[in-house]
Amino acid sequence: MATLRFHALDELLTRAPKEVKLPSGNLTEYYAEKVFNTDSMRRYLSKEAFAAVEVANLKGGTINRKMASGVASGMKAWAIEKGATHYTHWFQPLTDTTAEKHDGFIDYADNGSIIENFAGKLLVQQEPDASSFPSGGIRQTFEARGYTAWDTSSPAFIVGTTLCIPTVFISYTGEALDYKTPLLKALAAVDEAAVAVCQYFDKNVTRVHTNMGWEQEYFLIDEALFKARPDLVLTGRTLMGHSSSKDQQLDDHYFGSIPERVSSFMIDLEVEAHKLGIPVKTRHNEVAPSQYELAPIFEEANLANDHNQLIMDLMKRIARRHKFRVLFHEKPFAGINGSGKHNNWSLGTNTGVVLYAPGKNPKTNLQFLTFVVNTLMAVYKNQDLLRASILTASNSHRLGANEAPPAIISAFLGTEVSSMLDKIVAEVPDTKMTPDQKTALKLGIGRIPEIILDSTDRNRTSPFAFTGNRFEFRAVGSTANVAASTTVLSAAVAAQLRDFKTEVDGLISKGTGKDEAIFQILKKMIIECAPIRFSGDGYSEDWKKEAVKRGLTNITDVPESISKYLDPTAKRTLIEGGILSEKELEARVEVEYEKFVYKIQIESRVLGDLAINHIVPTAVHYQTRLIQNTQGLKEIFGEEEYKEMAASRLDLIREISHHTSAIKDMRADMIQARKECNKLPDGKEKAEAYNTKVRHFLDEIRYHIDKLELIVDDEMWPLPKYRELLFNC
Ligand code: ADP
Ligand code: MG
Repeated sequence: MATLRFHALDELLTRAPKEVKLPSGNLTEYYAEKVFNTDSMRRYLSKEAFAAVEVANLKGGTINRKMASGVASGMKAWAIEKGATHYTHWFQPLTDTTAEKHDGFIDYADNGSIIENFAGKLLVQQEPDASSFPSGGIRQTFEARGYTAWDTSSPAFIVGTTLCIPTVFISYTGEALDYKTPLLKALAAVDEAAVAVCQYFDKNVTRVHTNMGWEQEYFLIDEALFKARPDLVLTGRTLMGHSSSKDQQLDDHYFGSIPERVSSFMIDLEVEAHKLGIPVKTRHNEVAPSQYELAPIFEEANLANDHNQLIMDLMKRIARRHKFRVLFHEKPFAGINGSGKHNNWSLGTNTGVVLYAPGKNPKTNLQFLTFVVNTLMAVYKNQDLLRASILTASNSHRLGANEAPPAIISAFLGTEVSSMLDKIVAEVPDTKMTPDQKTALKLGIGRIPEIILDSTDRNRTSPFAFTGNRFEFRAVGSTANVAASTTVLSAAVAAQLRDFKTEVDGLISKGTGKDEAIFQILKKMIIECAPIRFSGDGYSEDWKKEAVKRGLTNITDVPESISKYLDPTAKRTLIEGGILSEKELEARVEVEYEKFVYKIQIESRVLGDLAINHIVPTAVHYQTRLIQNTQGLKEIFGEEEYKEMAASRLDLIREISHHTSAIKDMRADMIQARKECNKLPDGKEKAEAYNTKVRHFLDEIRYHIDKLELIVDDEMWPLPKYRELLFNC
């Protein structure tokens, strides 16, 4: 009998929802109690130290040593009072998770006794021996030390008994080795470029910040079943498994009532998230069975990104408390929906204006349209770069596969905004505008309704949709560090706004009035980026054909997509924009190729092992039973009668042999293919080779395993089946 599987199923019968004790007091009392935020800083820091942090936040600079030790001792006092015993620099290397190295507050005093200490220099900068993180060749091992430096714009927080200090992670020679550093640069770049453009409309705008609201999809699987699936444990997805007779056909899970065990998990998670100052707001069931979604209220993008990273970590830990495992993989189960992470992105000014929300008068609406059109143009020009920021080995199971969003980047605007853009094209003449024409156009623009949420939210098939006061980039993968896409999007819009300003200023300097110059450039841009606008069904075959006609790219091949990071347009956006140096960009691309290779390599090894050690022996075992049975029939009934009686069994015996031989042969070929790929010295070539020579075996071998699952006696099947994994609470 398949012991582990049935043991797991037995365990499942004993599961009960875990009782969750809510903190005493209401939300506002415990919200952010584990965050060293402005309130706690005011209480624990001297006036000077507090001011130093504020200034560093505002100007993006660092704080000097003297101030740093003041801040560190205040932070330590606060943390110890909250029960912390250790501290760590918390950073985001180019892997799928965050990193931390804990140190105790323990130190020797001058007289040799033991004290609790946390020096300023340890707050500001550290050198974790982080030589094993991916660096794309930037760090040779002999100079392996990277260092971490405090990001004052994101507050420290406590997890368990550890004070966590958000930091950037940089090589000894100053190159970024993480997601946070380029994100901070891109946010600064879009701030500067957007302020310059806002100046056309409102001189009071001095700062533009980026808002981000992520929506995180995930699966929850029972711990016992999870552990009985080595593929889930090692790769995050099921590499085999026949689909369940019932999965999501009836749409009965989507927005349905949340199972009690899951609900306990969610409540537990929300309380912890709120204590950490993560403004979690929405929870619901998603389309696939056992799939859920969580979303907070949007925040400043760097903080929102830290919070997404933090909550993914928190979810993993809290899931264990409830005897669940959380799956972030984009496609843990074939045949049903996978998980994504929507990136809701917008810009807002220090004067309180959301630049993607229609305003109240022609002037604010012209500003709104300016930002919308520039964003469209940025997306149009940088479609390949945007895709490169989100298309990974795991996300490629969704993008461009039989499930949305497509690998074609397009933007959906909704009828109101779309017709306004068409109006600009139609009504702005090529010659100088007459006062009447200007008035008419401005009046029209003034009529954009303030609330246009309804008509914009309907198209769910668009990878980049305008949703009333923001753009929603929906092609991001659920495992992703959302900084990668936010960096690229912000950098692309920054570059575009700079181009726009140069063009408008050019016309103004030649004597064109400001508004007219803006109208003319907008018109030109609207015409140029028209191919990116699409409001139809993004999942349809027709759209693929139409996109080709429009000259849009449709890249589903991961290594090819990664290579687009080094295209001239991408370089212009990222390198000229000051987000990454050439060396950093090249290193990042190397890391992406490497990650792709490792992901496929691991999947291929795991599948090979499971096939040979679990599946083939089980199938052969069952086949032996069939053979014994047919031999028995022959003995009892004699040749003639037996032939008829055992016909279907003989077919089964043949079928099993056919599948097991195919599995064995293909596994041998797959190993050979891996060996050949591994010899290739170049990262890109290796990734391409893994993509074309190894990857297809995963589906091909799986096909035979899934067929065997349908044949072999259920009692003998070793791995929990889809119906068990997906309908477990
Ligand atoms: P839906 O599922 O309809 O897309 P949700 O409410 O689940 O909507 O998520 C929308 C996300 O977008 C939330 O995080 C929300 O706070 C965020 N959001 C709303 N307005 C903005 C904005 N102007 N800029 C950025 N994010 C926003
Ligand atoms: Mg959404």
